[in-house]
Amino acid sequence: MGPQDQPDYVNAVACIVTRLVPGDLLTELQRIETVMGRRRDGTRWGARLLDLDILLYGTERINEPGLRIPHPGIAERDFVLFPLRELAPDLEIPGRGTVSRLCRTVSAAGLVAIPEEAHA
Ligand code: AMP
Repeated sequence: MGPQDQPDYVNAVACIVTRLVPGDLLTELQRIETVMGRRRDGTRWGARLLDLDILLYGTERINEPGLRIPHPGIAERDFVLFPLRELAPDLEIPGRGTVSRLCRTVSAAGLVAIPEEAHA
């Protein structure tokens, strides 16, 4: 996404169980970004150390100024859909269809899978 003159980066998707409500979860993710050294300088899509987003929160749909769930780019972004398919191919993205189906609408040409033996 955005400027191409930035280093390669790793995309990953995690499934978590949480007691935090969505707004508190976002606050916590931003706290982790800050602890990990991210500084917000207002640059959209600039190089960043870590970017934690909420893609989905169960089947909820949220449309608030600072929080949109499902994440607005989820259905179009190859680097979101393909990692998500590894975890949950049959997952229904509210209003958009299953992850597997959406994967068939985007190209994976720009993605390079990290070999399993390199995961640890
Ligand atoms: P980012 O640059 O990706 O960290 O996101 C910038 C802003 O997007 C954050 O300050 C959030 O308020 C807003 N935002 C809206 N929806 C989401 C979401 N689902 N996950 C993460 N950030 C979100």
